[in-house]
Amino acid sequence: MIQAQNLAEAFRALYGMDGRVYRAPGRINLIGEHTDYNVGFVMPAAIDLYTWVAIAPRSDRIIRICSRNFSETVEFTLDKLYNSPRSHWSDYPRAVAAVLEQNGYKLSGANLLVQSDLPIGSGLSSSAALEVAAAYALLDISGQSIDRVKLALLCQRAENDFVGMRCGVMDQFIACCGRAGVALMLDCRSLDYALLPLPDDVKLVVCNTMIKHELAASEYNARRAECDEAVRILAKTRPDIRALRDVTEDELERRSASLPETVYKRARHVISENARVVKARAALERSDLETLGVLMEASHTSLRCDYEVSCRELDLMVELARQVDGAYGCRMTGGGFGGCTVNLVQAGKAAFFIQEVAARYENEVGVAPEIYPCSPAEGAARII
Ligand code: ADP
Ligand code: MG
Repeated sequence: MIQAQNLAEAFRALYGMDGRVYRAPGRINLIGEHTDYNVGFVMPAAIDLYTWVAIAPRSDRIIRICSRNFSETVEFTLDKLYNSPRSHWSDYPRAVAAVLEQNGYKLSGANLLVQSDLPIGSGLSSSAALEVAAAYALLDISGQSIDRVKLALLCQRAENDFVGMRCGVMDQFIACCGRAGVALMLDCRSLDYALLPLPDDVKLVVCNTMIKHELAASEYNARRAECDEAVRILAKTRPDIRALRDVTEDELERRSASLPETVYKRARHVISENARVVKARAALERSDLETLGVLMEASHTSLRCDYEVSCRELDLMVELARQVDGAYGCRMTGGGFGGCTVNLVQAGKAAFFIQEVAARYENEVGVAPEIYPCSPAEGAARII
């Protein structure tokens, strides 16, 4: 594996010692967007684009970490881990080290070199890939073993409590528990999951709009607050409602007059999206890709109109993809306001699809998109 060897060599050149190499994958989400923090259903797949970490232990309690993507090195001590986030990339590794130590996983000091194949800040979850790769590597060199689900939960806690992003569990979960060839249907309340093999004759094609909206983090937290508001109002007459997961589409319609218009629309997205994930699982189990495609498009429409987290470029990328022969389904993936779309494409037509979508998008927007054909991949692992 060429990336692993290159990183191992760069690590030796930087630190003058041999290191081990680990990686954790990014992800797409076939369907089930903004449902994870409402403890509903999601259907992610890990993809074969990774964040790589080369690492060797030190005899002291210092963590020294260099990101090749940012050409920058940061140092901190395990004895004084966290005061507050600095809005810097080092918040992520520092946060996972803090949460692991807090939870009784005694870590060794270490030198680390990080490199990601993933586009950063584009909705493919480079942040969770960094958290999980760093945590997995730190634990392994410290001789500590951990259950993958526990690791995902601790990395989520790191991002929630220390980085200050109130994300759901999906990204960390799939970076830990992804499996080659399959998407996972995950119940974000029970954390039960089913493995759903993708047919061999389809390809996952990720199209990057190359647009990043600064709005993403603040709007994400605003959507969470609106979902909390819907739960608060709906629970007044039915106290067993703890999350939008506990409300059916019929019940929401019956009680729509009790909700402010915007809050109602946010709830309608989440509740209808959960129902779509259930239908998508059934479709995938009978290899009915046409129906899965229709559900993906309904998901995008709901995200655009009810949840209002799309943007012009995402809508255009989806619209262009729909017009090209070979695409079963297309939708935005990730938090929204830019970033990537995920497309389910007939394998034999993937090359044509990529060429056509790239040319048409560049023609309309004036920016060449990056397009990545991907396969469902394994979760975090040691490579060297
Ligand atoms: P996404 O997870 O969709 O890529 P986020 O905004 O959640 O977008 O996370 C991106 C942030 O994660 C970056 O701004 C940076 O702080 C951190 N990050 C991701 N990959 C790396 C990397 N290889 N090196 C350093 N920091 C990284
Ligand atoms: Mg992220």
